[in-house]
Amino acid sequence: MIRERWSPNHDARPDGTPIDTLVLHYTGMQTAKAALDRLCDIDPPAPLPRVSCHYLVEEDGLIWKLVPEERRAWHAGASFWRGHETLNGRSIGIEIVNPGHEWGYRPFPALQMAAVADLCLEILGRHPIPARNVVGHSDIAPDRKQDPGELFDWEGLAANGIGLWPAEVDGSGAERPEGGMVRAAALLKRIGYPVDPANPRIALVAFQRRWRQERVDGEADTGTLARLEAVARLIEADAVPESLAG
Ligand SMILES: [Zn+2]
Repeated sequence: MIRERWSPNHDARPDGTPIDTLVLHYTGMQTAKAALDRLCDIDPPAPLPRVSCHYLVEEDGLIWKLVPEERRAWHAGASFWRGHETLNGRSIGIEIVNPGHEWGYRPFPALQMAAVADLCLEILGRHPIPARNVVGHSDIAPDRKQDPGELFDWEGLAANGIGLWPAEVDGSGAERPEGGMVRAAALLKRIGYPVDPANPRIALVAFQRRWRQERVDGEADTGTLARLEAVARLIEADAVPESLAG
């Protein structure tokens, strides 16, 4: 079911920018109502910024429309992915209700994930968003954000054709090879992460939340490296222009 609660917090998208990115978030607030109020607040108390998103999905699967897709919603903030900065202009943002790491992070119910999957598929049908540009907020702002986090079922979404998942790549290896972090940093860059050369671990943790959820510890171990290599290959295959593909 879809309801409307229009937010005043949006503006025009920049001219000539395609909508080619889908950003998934958790709300990180104690209740769905608090999140909706915040996302529609035209005058939040200082120092909070005005924020919004295009859709919010409650835990029972109820979907709220807050901002029309043709408008720029304010959900991602300072961000970077695959060479582009400040991704609000080119993205659609979905907030998924969950208290988050601050208020009691918990699994996303099946009804909610089914609604998220349906909504994502509709959005992917309307815009030229490649699988490599279906991202979590923590992928594009790893120094500030943890959402939607390591309990989010990215594998299940990928099974429905939403985003990429390296099937059958063992991520359990715990040995730490020499030079592992240097290899990890290079692979993170190939995938598209913003990598701080002085601290690649920040982006590595974001990668693990997304693609090696069984252990999120910032270590460039053999399991993480195997998943990094597999994801880099998937992303590069996804990035081949259609005229060159098979
Ligand atoms: Zn977020």
